[in-house]
Amino acid sequence: MPGSSTGLNILVIEDEKKIAHMVQGFLENEGFKVGVAHTGKEGLDLARQGYFHLVVLDLMLPDVNGLEVCRLLRRESELPVIMLTARSQEMDRVVGLEVGADDYITKPFSLAELSARIRAVLRRAGAASATVEENKLIVAGDISVDLEKHQVHVGEKEVFLTPTEFNILALMARHPRRVFSRLQLLENALGEVFSGYERSIDTHISNLRRKVEKDPSNPRHIATVFGLGYRFNP
Ligand code: CA
Repeated sequence: MPGSSTGLNILVIEDEKKIAHMVQGFLENEGFKVGVAHTGKEGLDLARQGYFHLVVLDLMLPDVNGLEVCRLLRRESELPVIMLTARSQEMDRVVGLEVGADDYITKPFSLAELSARIRAVLRRAGAASATVEENKLIVAGDISVDLEKHQVHVGEKEVFLTPTEFNILALMARHPRRVFSRLQLLENALGEVFSGYERSIDTHISNLRRKVEKDPSNPRHIATVFGLGYRFNP
């Protein structure tokens, strides 16, 4: 029986299929959604879709090696990375952390340990804040979002949002400057969605802008990130 959903998505990049599937099965039981890639290239492509909250990355891959994958990811985003390495030399650890990995774990590892590391890194990254600890009031510039009372104020004035609009704004405001894909925003706002409907988020975003932005046609807070999705600027 799978555990209750964490709402968090994890990408496992590992060419050893047995290990990849074992990790996948375990993490799914822990309530994560898990994607698997068997090459560095495939992993990069998946990671760039903006759907995942954390990457478990094997160091030794057949094409682009793990360090290079990590370096490329880090250049583009703050997506947390945990490196898997078969070698335990201090050297690997230092190099891994130097290219921006958030943590590393040495093979053979226990699944419970991996899970603990994942949760710790997610907590530090703030990605798990929705499930772990909730700030009840988010203030970003002149916008304040009260998560408990489901109220939004712009300056002194209360604005009224639909539940979908509220969920989108709350998610983005909790993670200022982070880029969310359309699919991520929709999934978070509506639960499960079918891919292909991502564009329907644009309507919600334009309604939100109308309600919370001083100049909706020239938005200050809810910014479009071309080709990727949206970002909240405080
Ligand atoms: Ca490997």
